[in-house]
Amino acid sequence: MTRKHCPLWTGRTKTRLEEILRLAYLSLMAIREILTVPNPILKEVSKPVDKVDEELRSLMDDMLDSMYAADGIGLAAIQVGVPKRVIVMDLDWGRGERNPRYFVNPVLSDPSDNKLPYEEGCLSVPAYYDEVERPDRIRIDYLDYDGKPQTEIAEGMFAVCIQHEMDHLEGILFIDHLSRLKRQRAVQKVKKLVKQREQDAA
Ligand SMILES: [Zn+2]
Repeated sequence: MTRKHCPLWTGRTKTRLEEILRLAYLSLMAIREILTVPNPILKEVSKPVDKVDEELRSLMDDMLDSMYAADGIGLAAIQVGVPKRVIVMDLDWGRGERNPRYFVNPVLSDPSDNKLPYEEGCLSVPAYYDEVERPDRIRIDYLDYDGKPQTEIAEGMFAVCIQHEMDHLEGILFIDHLSRLKRQRAVQKVKKLVKQREQDAA
């Protein structure tokens, strides 16, 4: 993991004070459990956020930490069990950079007629990947980390990711776009994996 945006994470810790500060920073990071299929909470429809306040920013910070810790590039609040219309994303994470983005009450519109297949994965469906076709361009209106209204045109990977995360807010998973057989196979695979992880941890 790259940690270049936090000076306490440079790995060049020299003094005892710096080490204490580094440990304090680590303990402040809040990693929340990411729910996996077939947890019924993932099927809930998330509710709009009334106000972007400190409490919500704290949720977004936790979500980002949890997403980074799980090596993901996008996460919806419902995936940590909070049914609010909130998404965090970092498309540069895989390239070893950090450019976090936050979307509160996002609304999608004007999808392009052109659809493209893209192999998707999901932190709630770990170790399963499959192709989903989605519009390759879409408009997004949302509130940012400071609660300011923003509008963007998402294309390519950004378009794929925001549509995948928006689906979560409606209780839809990417495997719901697949055939019933594939969906069942994916859920079975995840159940097995979770069981294995529990056994390993025991
Ligand atoms: Zn997902």
